[in-house]
Amino acid sequence: MKINAYQKLKTKCAEHGARIIAVSKTKPATAIAELYELGQRHFGENRVQELQEKHSQLPQDILWHVIGHLQKNKVKYIAPYVHMIHSVDSDALLRRIDSEAAKNERTIKILLQIKIAQEDTKYGLSITEAESILLNVKHNLYPNIELCGLMGMATNTSDLEQVRAEFNYLAQLRDQWEDTYNLALSELSMGMSGDYEVALSAGSTMIRVGSLLFGTRT
Ligand SMILES: *Cc1c(COP(=O)(O)O)cnc(C)c1O
Repeated sequence: MKINAYQKLKTKCAEHGARIIAVSKTKPATAIAELYELGQRHFGENRVQELQEKHSQLPQDILWHVIGHLQKNKVKYIAPYVHMIHSVDSDALLRRIDSEAAKNERTIKILLQIKIAQEDTKYGLSITEAESILLNVKHNLYPNIELCGLMGMATNTSDLEQVRAEFNYLAQLRDQWEDTYNLALSELSMGMSGDYEVALSAGSTMIRVGSLLFGTRT
């Protein structure tokens, strides 16, 4: 675990009023525990089974974020405890999260994942799909979810100006949709190890950082 990188990230995030989501996928529970000892509470995972194991082994006050594509039939396993799901990429998934949250008598925080990258990416909502969901939220069709904002992944490129344009676009969509639908979309989950500085300057409120903190994944 890279303590210096963590301290540096914390300082940068504090300057921008943003939060670190430590992406611990593929890393052992011991690595998470080390960061926990330094005060980190928000962790991100992308596989349900791995998350289940870590959730059972680690302190119960960890706030778990799901950041990767989530299958509908797996929602039931994490619904009792998950803190936030960043990767909502279909209306069907959102309906399932809502019904599983209801069964657990709780509200689950979610973000809509929007396709902002130029490259062909598998997951994420188009503008049209997102707008139809926003209308449903407006009409209170998912009473057990709390829509907190948007998530996006930029194109995997070394061209940071392109990355900046994509993050700015997501921030602009947020502003526009807040106006159009009169909803508070205060969270913008954008930025990873390679582009978090660009994301912070574009208004990110949550950076999802893995390799910078835990080392590269093999
Ligand atoms: C793995 C992953 C990250 C973290 O990536 P790093 O480059 O290791 O910081 C962030 N977001 C998502 C959706 C991921 O799958």
